[in-house]
Amino acid sequence: MYAFIVFALVAVLVILIISISAKNAAWEKKLSGKYCPQCGYRGKMVKKIRGSGAVELLLWFFFLVPGLIYSAWRGSNQYAACPKCGSRDVIPVESEKAKQAIESKQQKKCPYCAEMIKSEAKICRFCGKELSGCKV
Ligand SMILES: [Zn+2]
Ligand SMILES: [Zn+2]
Repeated sequence: MYAFIVFALVAVLVILIISISAKNAAWEKKLSGKYCPQCGYRGKMVKKIRGSGAVELLLWFFFLVPGLIYSAWRGSNQYAACPKCGSRDVIPVESEKAKQAIESKQQKKCPYCAEMIKSEAKICRFCGKELSGCKV
C-alpha cells in the first residue's frame, strides 16, 4: 500500500517536472529571435508577467481560492516584451514584416536625388553627391 502511494507521488512529481521543463522550452523559443518594431531591438526578449508576486502570495496566505484564481490569471498573462523599451508588440525576426522594417531602417533618402540609399553611405550611388554629416 505504502509503495503504491510513494510510486504515485514520484509519478506526479516526474509529470510536473516534465511539464515545467516543456513549458520553459516553449518560452525559450517564444522569446528568442524576435524583433521589436518600436525601437529596432533584435534578439532575445524578456518574459514579463502581469500582476504582482506580493499580491499573489498574500492572496494565497489569507484566502486560498482567490490565490488560486490569481495564480491562474497570472499564468495566462505571461508575455514576451522588449528588454529595451518594454514593448509587447514584438514579432519574429524572420517574418516579412520584421525584414521590411529592418531594411527600411538601414536605408535613408538622398536629399539631392531622393533615391533610397544605405544609411551608412557617405556618397550617393545614384547622383554621386557627398552626404557626410547629413542626417536624413
Ligand atoms: Zn523595443
Ligand atoms: Zn543622390
